[in-house]
Amino acid sequence: MGFSRNVKKSDVVIVGAGIIGVCCALKLAERGLSVVLVDREAPCEGASFGNAGVISPWSCVPQSVPGLWKKLPRWVIDPEGPIFIRKRYLASFLPWAFKFLQAGKAEKVERIGDAMMVLSNRSPSHYRELLSGTSELELVKDSYYIFAYKKAEQASFDHFGWQMRKKRKVPLSLINAEQLQELEPAISKKFEAAILIHEQARALNPYAIGKALVTKAKALGVQFIQSEVKSIQTDENIWSTNCEENKYFSNKLVLAAGVWSAALIRPFGYFLPLQAERGYHLLCHKPNIVINHSVMDVEHMCVASQMQSGIRIAGTAEFAGIEAKPDHRRAFVFKKALKNLFPSINVDHAEPWMGRRPTFPDSLPCIGPVPNLKGLFAAFGHSHYGLGQAPNTGQIVADCIMDKKSNVDMSPYRIDRFK
Ligand SMILES: Cc1cc2nc3c(=O)[nH]c(=O)nc-3n(C[C@H](O)[C@H](O)[C@H](O)COP(=O)(O)OP(=O)(O)OC[C@H]3O[C@@H](n4cnc5c(N)ncnc54)[C@H](O)[C@@H]3O)c2cc1C
Repeated sequence: MGFSRNVKKSDVVIVGAGIIGVCCALKLAERGLSVVLVDREAPCEGASFGNAGVISPWSCVPQSVPGLWKKLPRWVIDPEGPIFIRKRYLASFLPWAFKFLQAGKAEKVERIGDAMMVLSNRSPSHYRELLSGTSELELVKDSYYIFAYKKAEQASFDHFGWQMRKKRKVPLSLINAEQLQELEPAISKKFEAAILIHEQARALNPYAIGKALVTKAKALGVQFIQSEVKSIQTDENIWSTNCEENKYFSNKLVLAAGVWSAALIRPFGYFLPLQAERGYHLLCHKPNIVINHSVMDVEHMCVASQMQSGIRIAGTAEFAGIEAKPDHRRAFVFKKALKNLFPSINVDHAEPWMGRRPTFPDSLPCIGPVPNLKGLFAAFGHSHYGLGQAPNTGQIVADCIMDKKSNVDMSPYRIDRFK
C-alpha cells in the first residue's frame, strides 16, 4: 500500500463525534495534540443526542445481574414491556443474550461493578471542568436520582443492585410518600416510597453539552470533518481514515464510533459482541409540570427528567439490529408511564426519538490500545452509561495516547476479553 510521507497528517484522528469521541478530542487538544474528529453527522446526533441525561458518579450495577433471567420472560412477553426483540432478529440475538446472562453471574458482577465505578467517578465535576469557559455550565444540574416504588415494601436495600451500591459506599437513603411529594410535588400519590441516590447530576440538554464541548475543542484547534468513514487502514505505523472523498492520516487513531465501531474493526479480525440496544425517548413539550430530579419508575424501567425544552422520559431495550427502522410505538408507550408517574402532565405535544446504545454483554466498554495494531485505540461500547462515563473515558484515552502512566487497571476494558 505505502502512504506518502509528505501528506499532511495529524497526531490523532478520532472516528465518531458522539459524547465519547468529543470528550477524547477535547482531552487530547488540551494536551496540545493536533486532532481531527470525523463523523458522518453533525456532532452528538447518535445515541448521545437523546439520552435520559443522568450523570451518575455512582454507576456500578451492570445490566446483567444474578437472578435477572427470572424477570426476563415477563418483560419479553409484554408487548409494552421494557424489552422487545423483533422476531426476525431473534436468531442473531440469542448468542449475545447467552453471553449477557453469563456476564451476570455473581462471581463476575463485582469486578464489573468496580470497573464501572472507575469510569463514572466524579463525573458531575468532570463535566463542570470540561464546560468551564463555555456559556453552558448551567446545563449540568445537581440532583438526586429517585427510584420510585408503588409499594413501600418493594423499596428494599436487600435487592442485589442496592447491595452492590452499598458495598461501594454509594450515598443512599430511603424516603416515604410524604418526603417524595416534597421533592417532586407532581409525582402521583400512588408512589409509596423511593430510594434516593445522592450527589448525582443531570443534563438539561445532553446534545447541547456535546455541542458546547465541540465548540470548545474547535477553539483549541480540533478540526471537525463531516464525512462517512468507509474504512481504516494502517501501514508502517501510520493510520489512514478513508472517507468518501478524502483520506486523513495520523499517528494514532481512536475508534469512538459507538455501535458502528465493531464493523470498522472487523477487517482486523475482531468479531465483537457489540449489540445495538435501541432505546427510545418521548419528549413532552409544554408538559404543564416541572420535575426537579431524575426519576426512575422502577416498575416500568424508564427515567423521566426535566430538559430545557420539556419533560423527557427514556428507556426500552429493543433488539432489532443496527439498521432497522425505529418503531416509535415504543416511545409512545411512555405516555402511559408518564401519566402513571405524573397524573397532571400534558402529553399532547410529544416527540419520539430512538438511539442505539452500544452494548457489550458485560455492560463495560472497550477502552485502550488495541493489541497488535500499534496506534489504534478503542473508546466504544458504553451502553447505558456513556453520558456519565465520557469524561473519564476521554481522560484515560488521552493518558494512553500520551503513554502516561495511570493507576487505572485497564484489564476490564480490554478489547480482546471476548476471545
Ligand atoms: C434512550 C437512552 C437513554 C440513555 N440514558 C443515559 C443516561 O441517562 N446516562 C448515561 O450516562 N447514558 C445514557 N445512555 C447511553 C448513552 O447515550 C450512550 O452510552 C452514549 O451516548 C454513547 O456515546 P458514543 O459516543 O459512544 O456513541 P454515539 O453517540 O452513537 O456516537 C457515535 C458516532 O459515531 C458516528 N459514526 C459511526 N460510524 C461512522 C462512520 N462510519 N463514519 C463516520 N461517523 C460514524 C455516528 O454518526 C455517531 O455520531 C442512554 C442511551 C439511550 C439510547
